[in-house]
Amino acid sequence: MLDRAARLRQLTEADQDVIRRAHAPEFARWLEQIAATGGCAHPIHLTGSTTVRDTHSGEILHHYGTSAEPGERLLVRCRNRRATVCAPCSRLHAGDTFQLVRAGLVGGKAVPTEVREHPRLFVTLTAPGFGPVHRITAETERCRPRRYAAPCGHGRPTRCHARHTAADPLVGLPLCSDCYDYSGHVLWHAHTGELWARFARGVRRALASAAGLVQAEFPAHARLSFAKVAEYQRRAAIHVHAVVRLDGPAGPHDPPPPWATADAVTAAVRAAARAVRIHSPYSPATGERAMRWGAQLDVRPLRSSAGDEGPADEAVAAYVAKYVTKGASDTAAGTDHRLTCPDDIETAVVSPHVRSLMRACWRLGGLPEFAPLRLRAWAHTLGYRGHILTKSRAYSTTYATLRAERAAHERTAAGIDLPDDSGTTTDAYWRYVGSGHTPGAALIAAGIAEDLALNREIASAELKHAGRWGTEQITT
Ligand SMILES: [Zn+2]
Ligand SMILES: [Zn+2]
Ligand SMILES: [Zn+2]
Repeated sequence: MLDRAARLRQLTEADQDVIRRAHAPEFARWLEQIAATGGCAHPIHLTGSTTVRDTHSGEILHHYGTSAEPGERLLVRCRNRRATVCAPCSRLHAGDTFQLVRAGLVGGKAVPTEVREHPRLFVTLTAPGFGPVHRITAETERCRPRRYAAPCGHGRPTRCHARHTAADPLVGLPLCSDCYDYSGHVLWHAHTGELWARFARGVRRALASAAGLVQAEFPAHARLSFAKVAEYQRRAAIHVHAVVRLDGPAGPHDPPPPWATADAVTAAVRAAARAVRIHSPYSPATGERAMRWGAQLDVRPLRSSAGDEGPADEAVAAYVAKYVTKGASDTAAGTDHRLTCPDDIETAVVSPHVRSLMRACWRLGGLPEFAPLRLRAWAHTLGYRGHILTKSRAYSTTYATLRAERAAHERTAAGIDLPDDSGTTTDAYWRYVGSGHTPGAALIAAGIAEDLALNREIASAELKHAGRWGTEQITT
């Protein structure tokens, strides 16, 4: 028979750590803290205190300090939005995104419910082609069926008669990596912000001219609002999914003008997406490149009542929320962290195709004419500099508002009654003392995160429902 100490030594380091923790006197309080962070995988450790006093009498109305906490520290969420970095915080972020997008579609969070009657579209803008890639094929389809096709200048076939499922690692890879326009691909990524801005202006211009207005008059008649997410496709180029809404000039509280129908906005979106052209800076290395959206464009008016055609509001909100938790690394298109030298590119765990895109960022990023594009700083996202989710100011609420609401709700749930802040003075002293978990703590936090995940507002069923009508048919 082994004694207790010997048995303990046979356990993994993490299990030993779990047992040590569970026997510590502060375990219950520590567990409460972990639960309060939602089982965050990399919590921030803070030490300090907050004291609220009555300004006149100096009486202490409320005091919280970490001196009585386990390890004299408080754990707070890392708030990372990426599922690969912190699953629980990414779920919370997806939940906030769902609320934010949903409020802009159906009202709530200070947006009136009348927005349901405003023209609202779900739009997908794609990247143009940078060279043929293997693609997911439908049942009877072939990848690149060409009967007579000469090999490319590198002696590689320019056709592919194979069928590819989504699981096929070939999907998204170029037929010839030497023919593929890597420079064009990363330069296009670097210009998507500008392409979007021009597109939005184009939509306003097309709407104005359809209504017989000059462009400058448009803001006095209507206001265009949007929320959009970027999604990396298999060929590592982004698509933009956007919710577009047309309001009256004052925003969501203002009814749109009578000419602003869903059909009119659809036509304006189609015209603007086709018309946008911008040019990259001239470079002896690449010449001057014209940038545009891809020919594949998906525009769906959202139904305002259950009987109408088109996807449902909740499904669109869930669909958009799903993408904000994905970083470049989740779709195998890049890494979560910046690349600081060419060696980082060579050692990154990515496909040869993605590595070639990173190299193109590095190469072009070293040229003075491309300095404003900061291609080296954004080599890890393949030149794309945008946020994953962006929205116009009038679209709906903000992440900050949603977080403040949740904090207030959690305080109420915990029975903490902060006094009304008029006539009080708050002194707060907080210091960062570390982050992360010990191996045992990580196990316990993961268990708590799993339990909480079951109760999440964004249930997987909802996401599956959203996926049913998603734009999966645009796959490359
Ligand atoms: Zn976290
Ligand atoms: Zn193929
Ligand atoms: Zn070739």
